[in-house]
Amino acid sequence: MDLEKSVSTLNKVGVAVVKKLDKIGIHTIGDLLYYFPFRYDDYQGVVGIKELQEGKLVSVKAKVELIANRRSFKTRKIITEALVSDGNNSLRIIWFNQPYVIKNIKPGDVFIFTGVVKTDMLGPQLIAPSYERAIDAENTSHPKLVPIYFLTAGLSQKYLRFLIKQALLEINNLKDYIPTEVIEENDFLPLNLALQGIHFPEDNNDLANSQKRLKFDEIFLVQLKSELSRKNRLQQKAPKIVFKENEIKELVSQLPFVLTKSQKISAWEILKDLEKTSPMNRLLSGDVGSGKTVVAAMSLYCATLNGFQAIMMAPTEILAKQHFQSLERLLSKYLNIALLTRSQFLGVVNNQPVEYKKKDLIKGVSEGQFSIVIGTHTLLSEKIILNKLALVVIDEQHRFGVKQRKMIKEKITGLNGLMAHFLSMTATPIPRSLALTLYGDLDLSTIDEMPLGRKTITTRLVESHNRQKAYDFIAEQVKKGRQAFVVCPLILPADSLQNDNKEAVFFDLANEKKSVVKEFEYLSKKIYPNFKVGYLHGKMPGKEKDEIMQKFKKGEIDILISTSVVEVGVDIPNASVMMVEGAERFGLAQLHQFRGRVGRSDHQSYCLLFTTNEARGNTLDRLIFFEKNNSGFKLAEKDLDTRGPGEVYGDLQSGQEVWKLAGPMDSEIIKIARFAAARIAPLLNKYPNLKEKINDFILGNHWE
Ligand code: ADP
Ligand code: MG
Repeated sequence: MDLEKSVSTLNKVGVAVVKKLDKIGIHTIGDLLYYFPFRYDDYQGVVGIKELQEGKLVSVKAKVELIANRRSFKTRKIITEALVSDGNNSLRIIWFNQPYVIKNIKPGDVFIFTGVVKTDMLGPQLIAPSYERAIDAENTSHPKLVPIYFLTAGLSQKYLRFLIKQALLEINNLKDYIPTEVIEENDFLPLNLALQGIHFPEDNNDLANSQKRLKFDEIFLVQLKSELSRKNRLQQKAPKIVFKENEIKELVSQLPFVLTKSQKISAWEILKDLEKTSPMNRLLSGDVGSGKTVVAAMSLYCATLNGFQAIMMAPTEILAKQHFQSLERLLSKYLNIALLTRSQFLGVVNNQPVEYKKKDLIKGVSEGQFSIVIGTHTLLSEKIILNKLALVVIDEQHRFGVKQRKMIKEKITGLNGLMAHFLSMTATPIPRSLALTLYGDLDLSTIDEMPLGRKTITTRLVESHNRQKAYDFIAEQVKKGRQAFVVCPLILPADSLQNDNKEAVFFDLANEKKSVVKEFEYLSKKIYPNFKVGYLHGKMPGKEKDEIMQKFKKGEIDILISTSVVEVGVDIPNASVMMVEGAERFGLAQLHQFRGRVGRSDHQSYCLLFTTNEARGNTLDRLIFFEKNNSGFKLAEKDLDTRGPGEVYGDLQSGQEVWKLAGPMDSEIIKIARFAAARIAPLLNKYPNLKEKINDFILGNHWE
């Protein structure tokens, strides 16, 4: 059976259908088989009419034969009567004073009726049952679990089921790539039965077994890939960066603070890794404000002390500039540093700032004039030669897309045949077990404490009638010499709103700009005419953005209104208020990033949240949770629970595109899969089917 065969080879699939299937990512028979239901309608409790018993609450699936209103002689009330049939027997249904029922229920419709059975001389009857249109209307018998899929316009559940049934007919001799002993040891279903059972389960038990097998496959493949890539990495050669203890100690002694224990341990782990001749692949994770930059600086410096070059990548121009300034402060007396982004071409040479034309800077970098180059993804698109590149640091790695990360990887190979060492940093805290699964080939360092003296940020969800009070509060802070951020609501295209919180993917810059400018007009004219108010949005030219940021840094702006561009990394220690509009639209991890923009000094700081409408239900729960929790770790866990790893960790090498069923909560299966992968990896040649599968898998989008 060829899973790669096009869906057009199936019965009743024409060009129009192929187009529609294409919209939901289905091109091949295999895609169809792996297009899993997102839930099941449970008809297991539905009984036949023949089995009805007096006084019991039952559900009956039946086709409507007749339905009509009449007026009762005695009470003059409207009575609706229907006759329904399950194909074998019929049943009377009656509603009182609900004349509109006949608008909803028509002869020929199939419904599930749920109510209490009452028997009279004429047999059983349902009195005023609730009713729900049956999804699986093609038959009134065979009650069981009916799969429900995400659809696109013009496709119906019924039609998709029809196609999947066809595909399932062909998988009897499907190759099972998981080694037989693994299947037997764990009592897994064979692949074909699991696929059958995930779409059309016999019962709950069959569904659970099918899910278990398919979840295992998802986790196992990611895990096996990690094992193989680690093996592969350890065979590659990287430049050895010797730990220059004296110089690093001197650098640390010049810092205006003492490193935390966590920072020291992380730096030590990184510096030890750099001494190896196989490339490092390490993730430094630490909550917002925990001080990752200085740890990165130590390793960058160490690379240059060995005569090598290093680059540091940031996801935004603002952040790149900030890193440039920090490293300039720390390191410019020892070495030359360049900043290359879409609109910034700067250097410090012999401890002197220099402004360049773009092509001159690129030339200088390629000629080896700079030991450290800081940049954004622009750095990747230029033809830059770094002959002595030994270390690549990526800040806020989750902000880089898969494609960009791939380009970074390509950049760091092919340099004299040596691979550069690779350090990524993230403020999104990752539970260790999840990290080991998703990033199996990454070593992990964690900064798990905050610098001394930091005060807990006070967070408040502000009800709309208290808006003025919040504005007054900000005014007081500004009068005390502090500064404030106002993050504007995302304005979303209407269709993305239905998609419950997937907005981050959809929001559009033009709308963001509009909302920022509007808010700026309002706040600067109506609320704070006497303060210096500025604004910032993603559509501004880089130079302008930079000017605004520098003004804010120097205190020439009191209140900065901005889009989520201030989300990552920005360090303005004097700012003490972060006010977020439309807070319900953001994930908790992202809100935590906003909040992390304040509380970076010993001033008491505040985070004020506003919602577009009065928050209720889940939204309210989430935001209250955020109010009460200052640990990024706890928030990430909550996000993981409610939004899944894809939402939290972005689309980086996470299992997100691969994991349709499995999730971080499947700890038991994760354990089994990790164990199996470790055991099978060295023996891969013994399993040709698995080898073929994992090669395809690695060749897919999953490059790392
Ligand atoms: P993040 O981990 O979010 O990238 P940064 O590296 O931007 O955090 O550091 C946040 C702020 O804390 C910076 O102003 C930095 O200078 C300061 N900082 C870093 N380490 C310490 C420390 N050990 N003690 C006090 N302040 C520190
Ligand atoms: Mg940072």
